[in-house]
Amino acid sequence: MVIDQSIISKITAEVLARVQEQNSSTSGQNGIFQTIDEATAAARQAHRQLRKLSLETREKLIQAMRDVSLENAVLLSEMAVKETGMGRVSDKILKNQLAASKTPGTEDLKTEAWTGDRGLTLVEMAPFGVIGSITPTTNPSETIINNGISMIAGGNSVVFSPHPTAKNTSLKTIGLLNEAIVKAGGPPNLLTAVAKPSLDSTNAMLKHPDINMLVATGGPAIVKIVMSSGKKAIGAGAGNPPVIVDETADLDKAAKDIMLGCSFDNNLPCIAEKEAIVLNCIADKLISNMQKHGGYLISGQDINKLMKVILTEKEENAAAGCTIKPKRTYMINKNFVGKDAKYILSKIGIDVPDTIRAIICETTEDHPFVLEELMMPVLPIIQVKNLDEAIELAISVEHGNRHTAIMHSRNVDNLTRYAKAIDTTIFVKNAPAYAGIGAGSEGYTSFTLAGPTGEGLTSARSFTRQRRCVLVDALSIV
Ligand code: NAD
Repeated sequence: MVIDQSIISKITAEVLARVQEQNSSTSGQNGIFQTIDEATAAARQAHRQLRKLSLETREKLIQAMRDVSLENAVLLSEMAVKETGMGRVSDKILKNQLAASKTPGTEDLKTEAWTGDRGLTLVEMAPFGVIGSITPTTNPSETIINNGISMIAGGNSVVFSPHPTAKNTSLKTIGLLNEAIVKAGGPPNLLTAVAKPSLDSTNAMLKHPDINMLVATGGPAIVKIVMSSGKKAIGAGAGNPPVIVDETADLDKAAKDIMLGCSFDNNLPCIAEKEAIVLNCIADKLISNMQKHGGYLISGQDINKLMKVILTEKEENAAAGCTIKPKRTYMINKNFVGKDAKYILSKIGIDVPDTIRAIICETTEDHPFVLEELMMPVLPIIQVKNLDEAIELAISVEHGNRHTAIMHSRNVDNLTRYAKAIDTTIFVKNAPAYAGIGAGSEGYTSFTLAGPTGEGLTSARSFTRQRRCVLVDALSIV
């Protein structure tokens, strides 16, 4: 059979194009691939290479990740605010710096040893392998820096599944970290992702047989999904942190701390104060101090106007002829999540100076501002008669998340009672809520706070498996 020269040329051109396309997608660009299969295969290869490196080298890679994150904290913060339309650049810079400098490295891995007549037994913290990490839109670069350092310190590689609305910031962070790792002598693709993250790509990652562990940082839906995936999973879910102020508190400091905490990054952090429950005997004084520290008080019709702007109301069972009393539910208007107080107020016709950081208002305990996780600098304040009432209400509005709670009090017994009763992963005393993740306080930081699965503030050790190594009748010199 004679084959036409033009057909041969066509076939050759097509084969070359396919090879070229395959090469460009499988080699990836700083960890970014076209498909989850490619991202996972590259991360697996990187994990094998990481296993051959010493702990000393691993620590050098982590230092390079810290340095590049600090150098690019401003760039990444500006990018995130521009891309997502949420948060404050100055606060995001602090969050990125915190993730870069206070996420523990390999020092977090501890070995346990038993020695005696029958020899030596060790339990060491070993890597899981390739971890699939799903990251939120509220802390995009911070979570990738924090998870990246923790997971690599634990000896793993990571396939990230970032929130699509923070795609560019997330992929830029992954690229910068990979570049720094390679320059410091590490393998390429320790951190990977797909170029177009979507719900479909996240689902492909969740099911991928070569992903050994899943970590979700986000709302209740994704936490539930990873926890029912059949793989080892860590879930870091939603919060609705209540702050209680009792009659013994330093009211000026309490007001200042609450304003700082609830307006930090425009209330995006899951740990930020979301409602204040205050004893009625000190409420007026606390509120006037809050006004002094950047709170803008609204009341009456302005609260109703604000509700109409930031929430969408739905009535369930409201169909014609339905005899059941309609149940009102509220959806958050995402256009206002993480926006400045000044901007939100402008939508109800109130013009305020830039110094206003948060909107405060007195509401009833069942108000949607109290019950919903607004993630906006809007702080509802509820007056109660005594501490018993305050604690009972705080537990109820925290919705059983057991995430974060805050109290301002100088009475140790009161602090202890609330801390025990609410039983949250983080409990902050006499400080802004962000002290709970190591900002202006002692202790390391984390941006993946795993309440539902119990790891608490995750760090390298959370991403390891325990492995026992036994030597009988030797190496013990006791
Ligand atoms: P989100 O739940 O909308 O998204 C988080 C991630 O999950 C994203 O990558 C998203 O793409 C993915 N996702 C969500 N639903 C999914 C589904 N059905 N299938 C596949 N993927 C899905 O949350 P967000 O708006 O990005 O972040 C805010 C939420 O996260 C808040 O509830 C906040 O409290 C919580 N959060 C918790 C922590 C923590 O450490 N506990 C930290 C940050 C944020």
